[in-house]
Amino acid sequence: MRREIKKILIALALVALLGSGVLLHIRAQSAIIITLNFEFLRQGTAGVISLSGADLVGGVVNAFERSYPFFPVTGGFAALLAVPMDQRIRDYPISITVYRADGETLTWEGTVKVASGEFIREPAFSLPSDKFHLLDMSVQENEDARLNSIYSVVTPERFWEGQFSLPTNAPTTSPFGSVRDFNDGSTRRHTGYDFRMAVGTPVKVSASGRVVYARPLDIHGSNVIIDHGWGVFSNYAHLSQIFVVPGQIVLQGEVIGLSGNTGRSTGPHLHWEIAVNGVLINPMDFIRLKLPI
Ligand SMILES: [Zn+2]
Repeated sequence: MRREIKKILIALALVALLGSGVLLHIRAQSAIIITLNFEFLRQGTAGVISLSGADLVGGVVNAFERSYPFFPVTGGFAALLAVPMDQRIRDYPISITVYRADGETLTWEGTVKVASGEFIREPAFSLPSDKFHLLDMSVQENEDARLNSIYSVVTPERFWEGQFSLPTNAPTTSPFGSVRDFNDGSTRRHTGYDFRMAVGTPVKVSASGRVVYARPLDIHGSNVIIDHGWGVFSNYAHLSQIFVVPGQIVLQGEVIGLSGNTGRSTGPHLHWEIAVNGVLINPMDFIRLKLPI
């Protein structure tokens, strides 16, 4: 399917430090510039890959047995490369295919380094006996499948501008990716970030987007999911009240519901998730990521 790889010359390397990583500029004979805006990616994080050059109409990144599309931005295109939290720590092949207006297809191949997500193991979780059934693997698998089907949609339109923001200023209680031992003997990974919030505290949406889910789930409890476009979703879980309906457009900072203690929750808190291209990533890391516009 891929045509002969056109020779790509590496003209510049390591030209500038920026935020979390090193800019690596790779210049092709055909004046296409691919910029990996990171030196490496930690497990459960995303990085930005930029693409520019004359007569480009798009492209795709292939890595971690997934495809990550490029979207048009000022001066070119950008893709969000998200690494699953359980991706093993090592170097992985990455290929970037770009499409030109004349039908020509060019591919660059390289490697991307995955580093430790530095996840912690939390003190044991004690779920009350009336919520014990929520630890059943069948309940977990059903909910995972449902969320996966939502998170796997890629809306080409981008609804947000600028950076994502916190859903609350409440103190955080549990980080992303942590290992959790429950009182039934099972071990789970934390798929989001938790904030200590009394029941009934307003929850603000992290970025503008479209509501795609607004109803109870077994584990996430009363749940709101926002599609921000480009395959980016945010999720607000264990709510006590929901103020939005599917299809509704919400703006960054808008209150979409009130915090609660519904679903598989051991006390009042907000659970906040972000998924990129079907991959759950560290929301705290994502809001610090300099996103292309
Ligand atoms: Zn949580």
